[in-house]
Amino acid sequence: MKNLTIICTLFLVLLSTYTQAICVHEYKINTNLIQGPDFYKGKYFSNDGVTFHKAENFIFNANTEIFVQEEHHTLASDRYNERYLEYYSYSHIQKFINRTRDSWTQRGYKIQVIGKSLEGRDLYAIFPKNIDPNKKTLLMYGRHHGDEGTANWIIEGFVDHLLAESPEFFNQYQIFLYPMVNPDGTEAKRRYNAKGRDLNRVWHTSPSRSLDEISFIHKHVKENVLSLPNIPLIALDMHGSFTEDFIYRVDKNFRNQNFFNRQANFINNLGNRDEFQNGNAQTSNGHPKMGRIYLVREFGINALTHETPRDIRKNGSRKISDLRKQGFDILETIKQLY
Ligand SMILES: [Zn+2]
Repeated sequence: MKNLTIICTLFLVLLSTYTQAICVHEYKINTNLIQGPDFYKGKYFSNDGVTFHKAENFIFNANTEIFVQEEHHTLASDRYNERYLEYYSYSHIQKFINRTRDSWTQRGYKIQVIGKSLEGRDLYAIFPKNIDPNKKTLLMYGRHHGDEGTANWIIEGFVDHLLAESPEFFNQYQIFLYPMVNPDGTEAKRRYNAKGRDLNRVWHTSPSRSLDEISFIHKHVKENVLSLPNIPLIALDMHGSFTEDFIYRVDKNFRNQNFFNRQANFINNLGNRDEFQNGNAQTSNGHPKMGRIYLVREFGINALTHETPRDIRKNGSRKISDLRKQGFDILETIKQLY
């Protein structure tokens, strides 16, 4: 078992340099190296790096490379809330939509259900009734991974401050927001959607080939945002990490030095405001079917993945109000830079 741990760690270190080292411990392993029932505990397995299953639902072939993602927390919501800052569930997003609907409407925005999750939950998009090709465009989406609830508290903070902005702000900027792309995973408190898919691995170059919930989100983004003559100035994909606060960006060679600098500029400016994020960045060219990578590669959009610890101890100093304030910091950074 000790040898296996060393091998796995080695794989993790090797692979994280060029594969998707994101908000999960993820690696490949040869099935011949798997020994003993302990290995299966707390892990999900996949043949294709997209659809993950628990061991009991997964067929192992001999001498095959498979993907492994480690599970982190499985606490039921009530027990979760005893230990951590309140879990952001699907009912929270519904309440949030209801609470802000009038303000959005007054600002000329509509809230539309653009599709349903596999289990029939609403997929929301918030965007201008009259899309203006000349305005500065902002794109934000969140919760590809159901168990990363803190991302939505930050989105709420961002939106509450955005809706308090002056009419001049709305004359200059327009936003497209997809606040919860994986409501089924959210309800199951699981990273994946109802089919076991990691939704941040299923952004194809065409929406019709993107999978499940992402096919709706992608179609809407493609038709309404990516069709604009001016690409969004920033696209933020809101996630939760199991380590610290940081932002994922691509490396210098993925596009060019100017693009790298543009990403760094946002990260550093945000870090000046946000004491938790504090300018921390990770460079990762991710997985080719990640939302962030799709936007950077195909459109040259300054897309970043925003990571905040997903499970924050309730008895610590950090509160939900701090998460909301991180959303405010994002807005202030956008206003300063763009
Ligand atoms: Zn994530």
